[in-house]
Amino acid sequence: MLRIALPNKGRLAEKALDLFETAGLKAEFSSARALLAQLGPNFEAIFVRAADIPEFVADGAADLGVTGADLIAESGRDVEELLDLGFGRCRLAVAVPEDSAIQHPADIPPGSRVATSFPGIASAFFDTMGVDITIAPVSGATEIAPHLGVADVIVDLVSTGSTLRVNRLREVATILESTARVIANRETMSVDSKAGELRELVTALESVLRARAKRYLMANVPRARLDEVRRILPGINGPTIVEVHDGGEWVAAHAVVDATRVYQTIASLKALGAEGILVTRIERLMP
Ligand code: AMP
Repeated sequence: MLRIALPNKGRLAEKALDLFETAGLKAEFSSARALLAQLGPNFEAIFVRAADIPEFVADGAADLGVTGADLIAESGRDVEELLDLGFGRCRLAVAVPEDSAIQHPADIPPGSRVATSFPGIASAFFDTMGVDITIAPVSGATEIAPHLGVADVIVDLVSTGSTLRVNRLREVATILESTARVIANRETMSVDSKAGELRELVTALESVLRARAKRYLMANVPRARLDEVRRILPGINGPTIVEVHDGGEWVAAHAVVDATRVYQTIASLKALGAEGILVTRIERLMP
């Protein structure tokens, strides 16, 4: 049985659980507050803090894990990254008070105090820049540190930037861009049978991500316009054409289309006289 570490709460937890469930691996808990769950026939899930997942995976307490790229980098642990899940998007940024003269990290005066819950990444960043700073470690609410006189600069996660604006802070640099990643223990990946099972799982997760960006479109179209329909609905290998029992004037065309192109595609099909247009979501898509 391979063990998978998933975030127990926070921004990544629900999306990770939902992704596994859509991939066909629904977590079966033995009790409401359980920290362990069965995940399909081959896997067991443990629910832990996102920040602890790189450690658990690196140590082999879990074979696979889902956590943020920021937390993987901060842990400094050696794990094998198998997949970028695309959600949990944010950046680790350097910010200063709005009215500060600092425009660039190189302008930060030597001896400045930097509040952050990412001391490892922040120190390495300022070392590389050749800026001599002191880290003020905090475990949350980093953005109030400058107002409390605890720090001159902060290094914190930003997604929209609205928290920084509300706290009258201004970004001066991005240290890294982060999304949720699937990581694996290197020793587990060196055993063919285990690596095979984990790669199979990654393929299933990828098929869900791919499907989310697509829609399945069906429309009844006049047989006489099929050549034009083919140009509008390229599909994976071209549209699937199904007979309609109406004496031959109509056929049904089915195709997978990019979610972003559905609106335009429907308009183009209607212009050819299409009727009975249906659009549905796809659960998984394996090309
Ligand atoms: P948690 O502290 O458990 O809510 O998880 C925080 C993780 O969610 C971070 O380490 C990031 O990988 C990710 N994340 C995505 N957007 C944000 C954001 N705006 N602020 C903080 N964390 C974010």
